Amino acid sequence: MAEVILKNVSKSFGRVEVIHGVDLHLRDKAFTVFVGPSGCGKSTLLRLIAGLEDISSGDLLFDGRRVNELTPKERGISMVFQSYALYPHMTVYQNMAFGLKLAKAEQGTIDQRVRRAAGILELGELLDRLPKHLSGGQRQRVAIGRAIVREPQVFLFDEPLSNLDAALRVQMRIEIAKLHENLGVTMVYVTHDQVEAMTLADTIVVLSDGNVEQVGAPLDLYHHPQNRFVAGFIGSPQ
Ligand code: ADP
Ligand code: MG
Repeated sequence: MAEVILKNVSKSFGRVEVIHGVDLHLRDKAFTVFVGPSGCGKSTLLRLIAGLEDISSGDLLFDGRRVNELTPKERGISMVFQSYALYPHMTVYQNMAFGLKLAKAEQGTIDQRVRRAAGILELGELLDRLPKHLSGGQRQRVAIGRAIVREPQVFLFDEPLSNLDAALRVQMRIEIAKLHENLGVTMVYVTHDQVEAMTLADTIVVLSDGNVEQVGAPLDLYHHPQNRFVAGFIGSPQ
């Protein structure tokens, strides 16, 4: 189980509130996509779910338990960022193994998990390469591999493809969809790309200015946007 529930969650930085009483239910094993314009609070919401920032008010529940009562390990959350700096002096294998080494995992466990992740991501032949000898897409896969080896229940992606060119984005989109299917985990994915949202999501959450505008299945939002804002973002052309 990996279900995340937000109840009336707000977040302020100093005196400025940027997330205003958000209610959301991220279902176990679903692929939820947050969309909305730059500055609307997508990354902040993701960081709250990841526990990288504390909520200012409301409740954030992880399988029914308050997030602040759980250790990071119990939360079982991994995040993949837009900029995915790999360690340049480390091989693909070492980059993927690094987090587990820090966590003092056993060598056998590390090796098994890295090889399994490499298999899933088709990086098996590239384990000894340095990042500078990889393509952009391969580098991004290594970044995803670093998250997979931690075996999280919930994957959070913050615009992971926005630094890639258009053709590669399409390819990676397919790979992320496959990953969701293979791993059977809960995924929350942030993008401002409508096509990405439409093709990846079970559920789309449209955000504007720190508020949830509408939640629904892609085609639902496409055909029945609740307001102009949603229509402008993913609605069918009027
Ligand atoms: P998005 O990811 O949708 O582009 P963000 O979540 O990054 O939006 O930002 C939402 C709002 O919160 C913006 O107005 C941004 O300036 C503000 N914000 C984000 N992080 C901080 C921070 N650490 N300190 C102050 N303001 C922040
Ligand atoms: Mg952002």
